[in-house]
Amino acid sequence: MQSIAIIGGGITGVTSAYALARRGFAVTLFERHRYAAMETSFANGGQLSASSAEVWNHGSTVLKGLKWMLKADAPLLVNPRPTWHKLSWFAEFIAAIPRYRANTIETARLAVAAREHLFGWAEAEGIDFDLKKAGILHIYRDRAGFAHAGEVSKLLAAGGLPRRAVTPQEMRAIEPTLAGEYYGGYFTESDATGDIHKYTVGLAAACERLGVRIVYGADVRAVRSTGQRATVQLAQGHGSEEHAFDALLVCAGVGSRALAAQLGDRINVYPVKGYSITVNLLDAASQAGAPTVSLLDDAAKLVTSRLGADRFRVAGTAEFNGIDRDIRADRIRPLVDWVNACFPQVNTRQVVPWAGLRPMRPNMMPRVGRGRRANVFYNTGHGHLGWTLSAITAEMVATLVREAAGPGVRAAAPAAPAVHGRAVAGL
Ligand SMILES: Cc1cc2nc3c(=O)[nH]c(=O)nc-3n(C[C@H](O)[C@H](O)[C@H](O)COP(=O)(O)OP(=O)(O)OC[C@H]3O[C@@H](n4cnc5c(N)ncnc54)[C@H](O)[C@@H]3O)c2cc1C
Repeated sequence: MQSIAIIGGGITGVTSAYALARRGFAVTLFERHRYAAMETSFANGGQLSASSAEVWNHGSTVLKGLKWMLKADAPLLVNPRPTWHKLSWFAEFIAAIPRYRANTIETARLAVAAREHLFGWAEAEGIDFDLKKAGILHIYRDRAGFAHAGEVSKLLAAGGLPRRAVTPQEMRAIEPTLAGEYYGGYFTESDATGDIHKYTVGLAAACERLGVRIVYGADVRAVRSTGQRATVQLAQGHGSEEHAFDALLVCAGVGSRALAAQLGDRINVYPVKGYSITVNLLDAASQAGAPTVSLLDDAAKLVTSRLGADRFRVAGTAEFNGIDRDIRADRIRPLVDWVNACFPQVNTRQVVPWAGLRPMRPNMMPRVGRGRRANVFYNTGHGHLGWTLSAITAEMVATLVREAAGPGVRAAAPAAPAVHGRAVAGL
């Protein structure tokens, strides 16, 4: 097994291509857009946040979700029209509640392990992605939220992530621009932020330097595998093209489910829509009035990132409405209102709205591993934490492919860093 096709040029596909190319594979990556990272890896919350490792499979989330369904401007919106996919996804979400503790600990462990790879690759390849290592502050407006966070901290610690409780006074010292009254917070010094789009585009260029063939504008229509050979069929121009490889890796975000079905595998990824706004900080007062420390407002379910001197990103909300990328003004408004309330010195005249679909599995764990056919692999379903986890899951899947290939493939780049992961969430 020497040649491998990857489907998807978002963060998971590009990091996987990089990790495989370094192990000596002949990698071809197919991406339907003209550039890398044009779908969910375009304008997300920017947080590299091990401190957000808590999975949502918790009884309190279900109760909160039911209350939110009745509120127009709530962070959660579910289209009540039932579809088989949505219903089965929610049933599996509830069935995963007993795994809440184990999956939270495992996610924290993976997120911490991802850091050395993600930062190391950026340094090795000279990628500027507005990285800010200033920590992430989780903020709470009431005692109940703060108390729950204390319990979560114990699980994060079990996964290898220390974070500390901070008083409202300490919160002000950590981020002086934040306005409002708070009960308390939790600060994770070791977390960071950065621009996922810039990183993915930079790493895609590094992949090409390593010999990866990236085929943009390539819409993969059909995939097949015999177990030894895999075929990728494209819809390109007026005719269709077919390409054969030794192996196939699916990293297609919300497109992974349909491709997996063609290969006889079930990858239950639901498209959970989220929104972001990027506030252009056009004047000195706005630049001074926007936070440099990244925030997570637990009640509003919003996250923030400072991207360079002149951009401030705010992201959040979860919408269950199938494949729907429409940007709704009534979902963007609460994000702008939140900035106005928490950062009154920031001028919100120029705001760029965006919507993306999180490829979310019901147990909130990425699918990293083999399919039914011996030469089919998956690295997908990273949900709300794909930016945080991508580097470690790329290392994991590349190690798995390398093991499956046996001897005969020589590493193209020396000293691939050690992998600290293992395959998670098998079929
Ligand atoms: C509002 C919002 C905020 C977020 N904030 C954060 C955050 O702060 N921190 C964090 O860690 N994560 C965050 N996330 C999650 C993170 O952005 C995603 O998990 C991640 O971008 C998913 O990457 P991906 O490669 O799986 O999918 P994508 O980036 O969508 O890439 C999949 C690619 O596959 C291509 N593709 C699909 N099907 C085909 C086909 N048939 N043929 C050819 N190409 C195909 C698509 O064009 C696409 O480019 C956020 C997500 C959202 C929506």
